[in-house]
Amino acid sequence: MLEPSIHLLNKARQGHYAVPAFNFHNLEILQAIIETAEKQHSPVILQISPIYLEKIGDIAAAAMAQEAAKAAKVPVALHLDHSNSLQWIEWALAHGFTSVMIDASALPLDENIALARKTVELARAQGATSEAELGHIGGIEDAQETGNPDMGLADPVEALKLVTESGIDTFAPAVGTAHGLYKFPPNINFSLIEKICSLVKVPLVLHGGSGIPDDMIREAIKKGIAKVNVGTELKVAWAKSMAETLITEQEPWKAVLKVREAVGQVVEHKISLCGSNGKA
Ligand SMILES: [Zn+2]
Repeated sequence: MLEPSIHLLNKARQGHYAVPAFNFHNLEILQAIIETAEKQHSPVILQISPIYLEKIGDIAAAAMAQEAAKAAKVPVALHLDHSNSLQWIEWALAHGFTSVMIDASALPLDENIALARKTVELARAQGATSEAELGHIGGIEDAQETGNPDMGLADPVEALKLVTESGIDTFAPAVGTAHGLYKFPPNINFSLIEKICSLVKVPLVLHGGSGIPDDMIREAIKKGIAKVNVGTELKVAWAKSMAETLITEQEPWKAVLKVREAVGQVVEHKISLCGSNGKA
């Protein structure tokens, strides 16, 4: 069933677990996410960013995700990840997305707040959930290579200002994670998560959830994270399994079944880390 992500996230906060949010890049990754969530009786957030929508075909991607979510036996939210424009937010809301993220974190705080406020308005009109970001959630190169662990972290005072003034439903502060795979374990600032969680009162989102050691994910959830984003690890599992499978199996539907299983194993592990199994 297709739901706004805030329903899933509010329940998760009450139950002291998190909802995993997986990026999909094609049909078999999408299917692996949904079938594993069903097997694990877990709520799940399906997400895709404008960059991938453009690459794989926006209309088809939205349609397949929406239909798969509707048919799912567990609650599924369909989320637009990292949109830096209101045009994509409007597009997503018109194409069945139940949750949208504006990423204006590279802009000055006032502009970030203004875009977040507009996103809230657009999302609410459709009964959808909104997400905004503050600080710099790096690519792998940034903080790790400069050796400055505080570089780009969200400031708690600014976080409170952004959430209060925009009315955003969910909030992604930069707390030391990065997108992509890590060269070294990330330096997550857990006390910052705890501090922001006590200030802002909306569900918190952890970006860059691929490659973070398991105990760090658990600790982040304990400190207040309600949504854990995972994209890269699914892509890696897909590529590895596809390469191995195609050596002996060239029938697409047979190959895809094996690949779905490999991606599903990663999904299952992240669901268990989030503690969302059995919560649907
Ligand atoms: Zn992200």
